[in-house]
Amino acid sequence: MPIRFILCEPSHPGNIGAAARAMKTMGFSQLVLVNPPEGHPDPAARARASGALDVLEAATLRGSLAEAVADCGLVIGASARHRRLGIAELEPRECAQQLLAAAASGPVALVFGTERSGLSNAQLDLCHALVSIPANPEYSSLNLAAAVQLLAWELREAQGTTLDTPPAESPPATIEDMEIFYEHLQRVLDASGFLDPGNPRQLMRRLRRLFNRTRPDQNELNILRGILASLAPGSGRRDWRGMPADDGESP
Ligand code: SAH
Repeated sequence: MPIRFILCEPSHPGNIGAAARAMKTMGFSQLVLVNPPEGHPDPAARARASGALDVLEAATLRGSLAEAVADCGLVIGASARHRRLGIAELEPRECAQQLLAAAASGPVALVFGTERSGLSNAQLDLCHALVSIPANPEYSSLNLAAAVQLLAWELREAQGTTLDTPPAESPPATIEDMEIFYEHLQRVLDASGFLDPGNPRQLMRRLRRLFNRTRPDQNELNILRGILASLAPGSGRRDWRGMPADDGESP
């Protein structure tokens, strides 16, 4: 099952091992670690992995979440309920069903935050939706590996229950496609003067959240990029249909 479990900056080696074990018990094996502690895999991680040493040892290491999810068509972040503006929040069951359905057309990811502070804003910008495990409102923060266990269990339960969705007309845009689009959008908004050069981050964050909610496919993204290209001064009416995915167009 091409479902990637990504731990962002896990600080306790024991949690990494326990997460590998949680995954393997539910039939998953693709573990990705974004900036794990030095000396990975540490003896504490090995000990907690127990019979899942193979998953631990095969874990892929990445320098950033953007790198870890570049080829993914769906990215769901796990987070204790916080109500973050503009990001859809799913129940574990819905999360499992959406990941399984999207996994039919390419890699998908379930992303976990660091123990102390969870997912950063920049990491949330890369998530199409969040999943929260319903818990005690007075203390809803589970141990990292416990959260992995519960969501992996939901994924296992959901296997075979998802409806056969007809193949999409166009594959989903990947995170990398979206990053290229955001760069293009920012250049156009800069040139038009719409973007406040003193504070570009807030607008771009809101726009990212808007597009993440709608999850454009490749065709839709090409239309959007064609519109941006047509707005470049002097471009006149251009035929966006012939435009390659990244033509390096600058306004
Ligand atoms: N203090 C942090 C908690 C980090 S716990 C915070 O407030 O965000 C480490 C990770 O476990 C979280 O980033 C999240 O990915 C996962 N996790 C913990 N509790 C969760 C819950 N109730 N629902 C979903 N994920 C949870």
